[in-house]
Amino acid sequence: MPALSSCSRPLFEERLRRSGLRVTQQRVAILEFLSGTTSHPTADEVGRAVNLDATMASRASVYNVLRSLRDAGLVEELVLDDALARFDANVNRHHHFICRACKRVEDVDWAELPLRRRTKLPDGKSVEDLSVVLRGLCTACQKS
Ligand SMILES: [Zn+2]
Ligand SMILES: [Zn+2]
Repeated sequence: MPALSSCSRPLFEERLRRSGLRVTQQRVAILEFLSGTTSHPTADEVGRAVNLDATMASRASVYNVLRSLRDAGLVEELVLDDALARFDANVNRHHHFICRACKRVEDVDWAELPLRRRTKLPDGKSVEDLSVVLRGLCTACQKS
């Protein structure tokens, strides 16, 4: 597990407690990792990142932690083109941009593409969530 910096750790413990979750090493490590990245990692990538030095966390327990964080509203789960579940500590309403060249997934501010929220479609379907996936070339790939 990566070294937890002494200043941020209590913050993540507090966020877990406030969300009604028991504080565990793994939950703190995974929440801290996700909060420090914008890469939208898959569960496997999260597992690899928090296991860098020993403490063999099994795949299943990484999934369990991710699910508990998601259910508590601390991280968002999204599934994009490759059908893999990805995790994001940005739980503010936002869209995603996928670069077709480097496959990077980036956040797009809701304000860049504001959409009207609706709870019902005309035919009666109830809407629970709304976001848009934009595709193109990221700024780095446009330069190369
Ligand atoms: Zn790119
Ligand atoms: Zn995102």
